Amino acid sequence: MTSYAIGRVQKALQYSSEPSRVNIKTFSATFQGNHGTHEVMYNQDHWSCNCQSYPYQNICSHTMALQNILDQILSVTG
Ligand SMILES: [Zn+2]
Repeated sequence: MTSYAIGRVQKALQYSSEPSRVNIKTFSATFQGNHGTHEVMYNQDHWSCNCQSYPYQNICSHTMALQNILDQILSVTG
């Protein structure tokens, strides 16, 4: 590995320990539910899902589960 590459790896490790540097603005995922696949979106602090339940309360099992999954991922790496 070149010294340039080593420097990049070291910087990445430093950045990885400073998650406050990152502000996720948009995010999209497919979610395989029991009754089909749903499109879950996060945009500017707002979640949405194209399932039938979401429009009634602006929340559904898919957005809640995805928030929990992301919390687990971030707590492992953060
Ligand atoms: Zn949903």
